[in-house]
Amino acid sequence: MMYDIGKIRADFPILGRTVYGKPLVYLDNGATTQKPRQVVEAITNEYYNTNANVHRGVHFLSQQATELHEASRETVRKFINARSTAEIVFTRGTTESINLLAATFCQSQMKEGDEVIVSAMEHHSNIVPWQLQAMQRGIRLRVIPMDDRGCLLLDEYERLFSPRTKLVSVTHVSNVLGTINPVAQMIATAHAHGVPVLVDGAQSIPHMPVDVQALDADFYVFSGHKVYGPTGVGVLYGKEDWLDKLPPYQGGGEMIQHVSFEKTTFNELPFKFEAGTPDYIGTTGLACALDYVSALGMDAIAAYEHELTAYATRRLMEIPGMRIFGESQQKGSVISFLVGNIHHFDLGTLLDRLGIAVRTGHHCAQPLMTRLGIEGTVRASFGLYNTREEVDALVAGIERVRKMFG
Ligand code: PMP
Repeated sequence: MMYDIGKIRADFPILGRTVYGKPLVYLDNGATTQKPRQVVEAITNEYYNTNANVHRGVHFLSQQATELHEASRETVRKFINARSTAEIVFTRGTTESINLLAATFCQSQMKEGDEVIVSAMEHHSNIVPWQLQAMQRGIRLRVIPMDDRGCLLLDEYERLFSPRTKLVSVTHVSNVLGTINPVAQMIATAHAHGVPVLVDGAQSIPHMPVDVQALDADFYVFSGHKVYGPTGVGVLYGKEDWLDKLPPYQGGGEMIQHVSFEKTTFNELPFKFEAGTPDYIGTTGLACALDYVSALGMDAIAAYEHELTAYATRRLMEIPGMRIFGESQQKGSVISFLVGNIHHFDLGTLLDRLGIAVRTGHHCAQPLMTRLGIEGTVRASFGLYNTREEVDALVAGIERVRKMFG
């Protein structure tokens, strides 16, 4: 299919609105993406025509809703090329997926003194869940350092392994630096030490093709809302062998086989990890979003965004006083920057007045900010619908703010 940006933008009604009387320039896609009409209509349609609780009903609507929900699981499976739908657990998002894994993995696979390896550029959601476990169970976090360009030091990574290492948990793409980490290589290294790997795919799934089997990832997690789907739904992929070894996370309906007051047996995968009524409307929306990006082609999206990000980097670098954080050769569609002595919050607030939505602050990566020796940045993050004209508006906006600050 041709990458027709005009046609694509027309699918996202919100992109046509104004803020403060100015056309909206939405460059906060790393935080969340806008939704195409197709996704909103799929959700509305299910509420209007097919809404019923899934899995437990004999009646027509319940069966139809169940079929939709399970078809969505198959769509996710295909999208990331998992072996089986048993390996696709629906969650509330990346954060819940990591918390689920941290709780169940640490409980069943780790003892006091054991270690989890994370990286210097993790989002708080891939740090704090491990720390909560560390507090309870006396396990330790080891951190892969990075160089000044924002690339992980792979020699140092190798040196972190010991017989106490039980898991590596690392982001595929940094939400601040844009660095695309060499996760296939890092997984091979971990496996050579007999250690499984969790990959945080929150910032990769929307922007590039991901094949969990080719990567040989043991666990891979992402959020629906960052890939043009609804909020409140996400995915934990896990190899079946691993998921089988882990205990349930939450208890309730859906995750059981048989309950008595003496003993309860648990449901098969993936339902063992899905206590309670799932967000079956959300999974329909997510599947619709994945169909939407698949129709465009993940390779085509990656190529388009790569070109746009390269253009934005060139244009931003023309601005005097521009400092871009994250200079990896392998970089996604995220640009974090500071300009002269202008505080990131001031710059973001003034850009907002021009209709330009960017994010400011520590981006939920305070340890990374400490490593960079800064408090925060301004972050422009691009999605499949952004344009060169929007990049030009950002550059013009920054120039305007810069002149105001003299
Ligand atoms: N990891 C990364 C790398 C992220 O960018 C984000 C969202 N900013 C998360 C995890 C958390 O995702 P969510 O809030 O959707 O659970």
